[in-house]
Amino acid sequence: RASAEKFEFQAEVSRLMDILINSLYSNKDIFLRELISNASDALDKIRFLALTDKEVLGEGDNTKLEIQIKLDKEKKILSIRDRGVGMTKEDLRKNLGTIAKSGTSAFVEKMQTSGDLNLIGQFGVGFYSVYLVADYVEVISKHNDDKQYVWESKADGAFAISEDTWNEPLGRGTEIRLHLRDEAGEYLDELKLKELVKKYSEFINFPINLWASKEVEKEVPADEDESIDEEETSESSSSEEEGEEEDAEKAEDEKKPKTKTVKETTYEWELLNDMKAIWLRSPKEVTDEEYNKFYHSLAKDFSEDKPMAWSHFNAEGDVEFKAVLFIPPKAPHDLYESYYNTKQSNLKLYVRRVFISDEFNELLPKYLNFLMGLVDSDTLPLNVSREMLQQHSSLKTIKKKLIRKALDMIRKLAEEDPDETNDKEKRGLIHIPKFEIVLFTRSIKFSFLGMYDITDVEESSEENEKKGQYAKFWNEFGKSVKLGIIEDATNRNRLAKLLRFETTKSDGKLTSLDQYISRMKSSQKDIFYITGASKEQLEKSPFLERLNKKDYEVILFTDPVDEYLMQYLMDYEDKKFQNVSKEGLKLKDSKTKELKESFKGLTKWWKTTLASDNVEDVKISNRLADTPCVVVTSKYGWSAYMEKIMHSQTL
Ligand code: ADP
Ligand code: MG
Repeated sequence: RASAEKFEFQAEVSRLMDILINSLYSNKDIFLRELISNASDALDKIRFLALTDKEVLGEGDNTKLEIQIKLDKEKKILSIRDRGVGMTKEDLRKNLGTIAKSGTSAFVEKMQTSGDLNLIGQFGVGFYSVYLVADYVEVISKHNDDKQYVWESKADGAFAISEDTWNEPLGRGTEIRLHLRDEAGEYLDELKLKELVKKYSEFINFPINLWASKEVEKEVPADEDESIDEEETSESSSSEEEGEEEDAEKAEDEKKPKTKTVKETTYEWELLNDMKAIWLRSPKEVTDEEYNKFYHSLAKDFSEDKPMAWSHFNAEGDVEFKAVLFIPPKAPHDLYESYYNTKQSNLKLYVRRVFISDEFNELLPKYLNFLMGLVDSDTLPLNVSREMLQQHSSLKTIKKKLIRKALDMIRKLAEEDPDETNDKEKRGLIHIPKFEIVLFTRSIKFSFLGMYDITDVEESSEENEKKGQYAKFWNEFGKSVKLGIIEDATNRNRLAKLLRFETTKSDGKLTSLDQYISRMKSSQKDIFYITGASKEQLEKSPFLERLNKKDYEVILFTDPVDEYLMQYLMDYEDKKFQNVSKEGLKLKDSKTKELKESFKGLTKWWKTTLASDNVEDVKISNRLADTPCVVVTSKYGWSAYMEKIMHSQTL
């Protein structure tokens, strides 16, 4: 078109489109969910604007906040339109081509390594997935502040925008027309589309209508042409009894009204989704499967991975709200890369079912920005500006409760994880009854061994599923817990309980502060730790030599954030933290002195009682943990093993 203005795609976008177009990725369905999600976002935006200015909605059909899908089988066009906020010419240019989102290159990279397109929506480039199925796409859009424009591109590195003087006026909103490739013919099948909308858009809060065909039976006047046809066929089939047939037909004709039924195809809008708001239902009624699906639609994460945990609750009292929080299966690609630039919160805020914002920073502290979820409050006012809402006094209460629930959810992940409860007594209690059964069916010798072999006991499948879940959480989001300890003084102790780390005695496994404390030597007052670049490097540290020799356990902190963390974490359960590479480390020397002093009488008595050539001294030991007494050789004497060797030689 002569009036069209031409533009080039931004380089990263162009690369992305090339990859998409040539992709052999089999799951091309995802384009539909991305388009519906964009339509839903645009509808959310206009509904939000209408809260403070009713005029923006307009009148008539423009007030219908819905999504419509139409198919043109002949022209092979699939179109999706919404009555959302629409795009101005400038919006079209920026949003669909010239400005690359921060996630663009990250996604291109990821696609080249994994080939998995499923997460495209998370990277903010979902729109371009249309080129998985179309070779030519038109976007017609009308924004309240501008004229109607058409954006079009054949994904050949360029796109064009023209003022729309030929299509029907949209009123307001956006229509996307996909000119489907020959291989994508399946998307012209109504059944296929119905199935896809059901699968991907269950939780879209606006009606999605399909212009669906319907076979109807219709009474029409039996016209002459057709009655002649009928006569012809009857004639040819039974020519011999012509006379009789004719008579019979005449008689019938007189009885029958002069109409007949024919099948006819008509079209009407068919609603495809039931717009259920899962968070309004009682948590008891919602199935795990539904929570999983809801998570996937919220997070735009359509991988197979299930969320690690969720918490759905209903807060009552002065401030009423309902909320669902999820711990995602994996940390987003940029969570810690640029922590202070990434989003503060991933919670969607609704007020009385109306979507307000997903960038509402007042709901959760930054360190919990890995959580996905939604808050819907009846207490917050609907028709005030965003700025006023941000200052609403109820937000503090909501935030406090959300943090509590979030930390509870994380704590439960640990509590339910059988790997976390490696407390021997607890295991013993669980496993002894099982041991008795083993005794009955196996040889005594085997059972006897089995008694100590607590890892050899079967666990229920549910327990198996939860096995290792906290380590998984820690691996993905442990840094957030540490950032929380730094940022959130109020919940510092609660967060410290969630900390996991390796120690000089943890044998490669993660352990907690509570577990560390339970293993502390009775003479130990402080919690010992050391920081460094890696476990291997730390294990060689001279600072640990003496502590290892004295059998003290030392926490090994190897994350760069740990050094910083320890400036905030001063104590835990009345115990101070002591960096063993720093001045002030007292290995109970003073205590030993005290002990020596108070047990002077006993040691002296012992020494004289045992007095012989073989006993050199009796001392308070600081190398023993459980054993009450040990015989050692003197610093300058032979070791026990050497003594043995020498002895055997003299014999
Ligand atoms: P995202 O939805 O994550 O922002 P997309 O690539 O899906 O990324 O869409 C890019 C942008 O294009 C959107 O942010 C929005 O501004 C604009 N857009 C896409 N579809 C529509 C639509 N139906 N109505 C209004 N704006 C849209
Ligand atoms: Mg999108």
